[in-house]
Amino acid sequence: MPATLIKGKPIADRIRAEVAEQVREIGHIGLVTVLVGDDPASEVYIRLKHKAAVEAGIDATDLRLSADTSEVELLEKVEELDSDQDVDAILVQLPLPKQIDEARIIRALAPAKDVDGFHPFNAGQLYLGRPTLVPATPLGVMAMLAEHRIDLDGARAVVIGRSDIVGKPMAHLLMQANATVTICHSHTKDLARHTLDADVLVAAVGVPAMVSPDMVKTGSVVVDVGINRTDAGIVGDVDPGAAEIAAYLTPVPGGVGPMTIACLLQNAVRCARYRRGELVYPA
Ligand code: NAP
Repeated sequence: MPATLIKGKPIADRIRAEVAEQVREIGHIGLVTVLVGDDPASEVYIRLKHKAAVEAGIDATDLRLSADTSEVELLEKVEELDSDQDVDAILVQLPLPKQIDEARIIRALAPAKDVDGFHPFNAGQLYLGRPTLVPATPLGVMAMLAEHRIDLDGARAVVIGRSDIVGKPMAHLLMQANATVTICHSHTKDLARHTLDADVLVAAVGVPAMVSPDMVKTGSVVVDVGINRTDAGIVGDVDPGAAEIAAYLTPVPGGVGPMTIACLLQNAVRCARYRRGELVYPA
């Protein structure tokens, strides 16, 4: 029997409706997104995030800076937003132009306004098992698994990819849900040996269809985080043929993508609650 598709949109729609309700309750949530330059993929992401934020009633400001913005100029802008009492949440769209050190900009964000959860303090809290603001994509994956009541306790989970944005936080969340986690990357030898053992397999690589059906364990749960633009349109990191082997599979498009945006909005609510003292941000 082909795999059950874990579609992101219905879950994301529900989360977005919940966020809209919370925004009404809080009254005002200020989100500023900063896009430096005119990278076409980043433009699309910013547009989608904005539309979703506005639909949820979030007061979203779309700040655009030219591609030749210097690191000092961007740092000054971030510091200004950090101390702006109308701003609850700040998102600096990555990648940044070459002349700007991304790590330096992320470190300059006020941690409690870091809606992406990329600041070292927030990453550290996740590492310590006391999550504060967690990157939206892995949060979205966890929500999808929870929706389908996937039992992670004691499950063997394999994450392919170790980026700070997806792979690492994903592995931590799975470990905190009591899965036994293996992280694979471009230096991993005999990748299939690991993936074939995975009850839960998360692919976050950026290589079209690199997970072939013969790398998937029968009856497993396969989460495809990949978004790859090809001549055939947007495809994931998992060959759709995996649906013949797995019990659950997230489709691309329409899987993890919509969840990322919904969970980003949830994070904006969290930022607003931190700033109002309704949630305590660790000192
Ligand atoms: P990234 O920073 O480029 O990281 C890719 C990871 O994959 C790296 O850890 C890399 O290993 C590993 N890798 C590359 N080739 C490999 C191979 N042949 N075998 C095993 N591992 C390999 O990418 P990312 O930001 O994590 O994004 C990953 C994918 O998810 C991309 O397609 C991206 O577009 C997509 N994405 C989707 C969403 C969403 O909302 N659905 C959100 C974010 C990202 P090394 O560390 O050794 O280089």
